[in-house]
Amino acid sequence: MNFQELGLGPEIVQSVSDAGYTEATPIQEKAIPYVLMGRDVLGVAQTGTGKTASFTLPMIDILSTGRAKARMPRSLILEPTRELAHQVSESFDKYGKYSKLSMALLIGGESFKDQQAALERGVDVLIATPGRLLDLFERGHILLADTKLLVIDEADRMLDMGFMPDVERIVSLLPKIRQTLFFSATMAPEIRRLADAFLMNPKEVSVAPPASTAATVSQSIVRSQREPKAKRAVLRDLLRREEDEMQSALIFCNRKRDVGVVHKSLLRHGFDVAALHGDMAQPARMATLAGFKQGDVKVLVCSDVAARGLDIPQVSHVFNFDVPVNSEDYVHRIGRTGRAGRSGKAFTIATKEDSKLLASLYRLIGREVEELRMDVAVDGAVDGGAVEEAAPAPTEKRRARGSRKPKQDQVCDDAKPAANDAAAAEEKTARRRGKAKAADRADPTPANGNMPDSPFGDHTPAFMLRPVPMAANA
Ligand code: ADP
Ligand code: MG
Repeated sequence: MNFQELGLGPEIVQSVSDAGYTEATPIQEKAIPYVLMGRDVLGVAQTGTGKTASFTLPMIDILSTGRAKARMPRSLILEPTRELAHQVSESFDKYGKYSKLSMALLIGGESFKDQQAALERGVDVLIATPGRLLDLFERGHILLADTKLLVIDEADRMLDMGFMPDVERIVSLLPKIRQTLFFSATMAPEIRRLADAFLMNPKEVSVAPPASTAATVSQSIVRSQREPKAKRAVLRDLLRREEDEMQSALIFCNRKRDVGVVHKSLLRHGFDVAALHGDMAQPARMATLAGFKQGDVKVLVCSDVAARGLDIPQVSHVFNFDVPVNSEDYVHRIGRTGRAGRSGKAFTIATKEDSKLLASLYRLIGREVEELRMDVAVDGAVDGGAVEEAAPAPTEKRRARGSRKPKQDQVCDDAKPAANDAAAAEEKTARRRGKAKAADRADPTPANGNMPDSPFGDHTPAFMLRPVPMAANA
């Protein structure tokens, strides 16, 4: 359906078509008419399905009549992160260019003064993160008594990040008679409870079943030993393996600390990579994100918090350095790729210790994710030449592997006997691609990576064939 048919005014239809959109996405098609009617809306649709425009477009229409008074914003949009707030403001700039709505952005990490000044002038649209809004409210710079339109966006993220008490407080400061729009990618029972509390007789519109992953994303699990070093080696293998197909990639780590470690390690290994984490100052975050969006840097290492809902359309790959502790984060993470019908690839590095997390993940998405045998990647798929040039002699390899059945943690077990060769192949490939940096070459390949020739001949006791803890060359 096109945007005109949804009942939007001609100026908005024009700006949407300037933005290059011809058809509304399903959530836009379902939500916009109800928002225009003044109904409360509960919208559930996967990440990347265009939820932002499903509230910004009708809001521009609704707010086009009337005037804002000083310190009394007419509408309020709550976002969990500064980046998301920023993106929503960009969306207003883009779609509202033919209307004269005033807007203010209240986010942490930016000057209070400018934000105060904007509020003093009066704003039609206030976009804020909950903490900063309450801060300014308590200082008396905002009155919410005239805010008759409220949007709670990315509600599931708000909940995960512990912002719901703030949101509840803010809602209590708003007039009881208002229009409330509530958007979420997933619909956990707690979200449902909050929706019931905030919304009045809402029209519920949902597009995909809750917590489903896009069909356009191919997903794989890659096994690794638990040591971070081993995981980093697996990650590098994956990055090299996917290099040719990769336009840009996000690497998610569960812990903030690991974002820094993985980032530095990849830099040392000659990868084109930047990092985004919650501790960065706002200008640095914006600059990093802008660089990534423009394609100046191809790979971004980040935490869930830093990457929440970011609109980065060109991401072709998502790598999970860790299995997310909260399964719904998985849906969000891989929702960064395969957006708007494009195809994408998602890889998740998992260790034996992750079996519980994987089980809960599979329950959530309603299926298992296939395992990718990375030994194949290291031996052959890096590129065709590597096999003949660098693979170990077949006999040696067979002996090293023995007749052990492939196991869950096959990746590293297998990689071990062939570690030197694999490393050589890796380095060779990297050098050929002009990517090997000094650090890469200086990286000592572990001496214990190879199984020594057995003095027992064909009668090697079984325990000797068992893997020893891997020393990955990270
Ligand atoms: P969500 O909030 O559901 O995760 P966004 O609102 O951030 O998704 O939109 C995801 C992407 O889809 C953005 O790049 C946006 O510009 C694009 N998009 C939104 N609406 C349309 C449309 N009607 N046609 C094409 N692309 C769209
Ligand atoms: Mg969104």
